[in-house]
Amino acid sequence: MKKTIQNIEIEVSRGDIANQPGIEAVINAANAQLATGGGVAGAIHRAAGPQLYEECKSLAPIAPGEAVITGAHNLPNKFVIHCLGPVYGRDKPEDKLLENCYKNALKRAEEKNLKSVAFPSISTGAFGYPIKEATKISFNTILAEIPKLKHLQKLKFVLFSEADLEIYETMLAEM
Ligand code: ADP
Repeated sequence: MKKTIQNIEIEVSRGDIANQPGIEAVINAANAQLATGGGVAGAIHRAAGPQLYEECKSLAPIAPGEAVITGAHNLPNKFVIHCLGPVYGRDKPEDKLLENCYKNALKRAEEKNLKSVAFPSISTGAFGYPIKEATKISFNTILAEIPKLKHLQKLKFVLFSEADLEIYETMLAEM
């Protein structure tokens, strides 16, 4: 499903964040150490190869809400933007920290003049953020940032499960 808002194409689709050819940067739902792990971080590091962690080491640790950018190595993209989402119920205020992830990821992309990025659903896996609340925050943040974007033309959301895709589609339709 796609929708254009103020000349920015927003797409939501089901897929693997580590397999997004044609997108300049993919966002990693990282851990503080920027290491491999489960979920999104595992998929990204496996597909990118060990050089990604070599590059990440000097940038770690990062705090919740922060985002750093690296090369994409063996991934079919130019860059990876690593965001540390809040752990639900631990890192507070979690809504603000999740908002910062999306804001800072867009900032890193704009600094490199990128035209397209793809996001996974940050914090809604191992970090336990309820998907509906998180989806609202991601869309509201992106809507607020759209007027500031100078280079980005396409924002894609890649959901792993059919249930998550449905939530994103419903919210995008209402936007
Ligand atoms: P966090 O630690 O920030 O919660 P996770 O990686 O555990 O991050 O999960 C975030 C979301 O990404 C979850 O909804 C999970 O189902 C989904 N996910 C897991 N693997 C992938 C993948 N390869 N591509 C896209 N989304 C994924």
